[in-house]
Amino acid sequence: MPTPAEKMVAEQLVPHGVTDERVLEVMRSIPRDEFLSGVARRHAYEDRALAIDCGQTISQPLVVALMTQALNPKPEDTALEIGTGSGYQAAVLARMCRRVITVEREPALAERAASTLKRLGFENVEIAVADGSLGWPESAPYDVILVACAAATLPAALIHQLADDGRLVIPIQTGRDEPQDLRLYTRHGDEVSYRSLFPVLFVPLRTG
Ligand code: SAH
Repeated sequence: MPTPAEKMVAEQLVPHGVTDERVLEVMRSIPRDEFLSGVARRHAYEDRALAIDCGQTISQPLVVALMTQALNPKPEDTALEIGTGSGYQAAVLARMCRRVITVEREPALAERAASTLKRLGFENVEIAVADGSLGWPESAPYDVILVACAAATLPAALIHQLADDGRLVIPIQTGRDEPQDLRLYTRHGDEVSYRSLFPVLFVPLRTG
């Protein structure tokens, strides 16, 4: 019998463009229900975003997988995530990278994610409570940066903290009634460029 996570990978990720075997393997191995509470737990392996505390959401599994795949995380990489939420995306990155720093502005979410990650045995994730639009300069530069909330423009601090040959994904809110544009930015020396991946719907990045 496949586990719920194995079924999720086979039915929702493999048929929809997730080809990176490391991403598939990691998402088979992490119990997504552990990152949820109450009734949301029953829906943990469904193909959709779900509510967590503080009016925030845990992203749809397919979006987590495609964002991770686009970042191409490597075992020696240091990763930065903005918007810890439940901690699920941080867990996925933690299985693929050496070290993950994740920044969350809601202390209650950060605390809960920290206890979930500890319970599941993750030892290479550090959670900071702060405004992630400023990044986390202490541990920069980062090989991969994943922004899990939508901004009007890419915050300058995040570009500065991206390593040479680094990759960054961020949902950009181009217009009020437009879907957000998920972008993959890459840096080569002083050259920063991006390509659009697909339209998404994330909660807003709230600065200050
Ligand atoms: N990656 C998460 C989902 C993130 S939802 C997961 O796997 O569950 C987006 C999160 O971004 C929310 O928790 C929200 O509180 C947080 N957020 C919004 N603005 C922020 C900011 N300026 N700095 C840090 N976190 C922020």
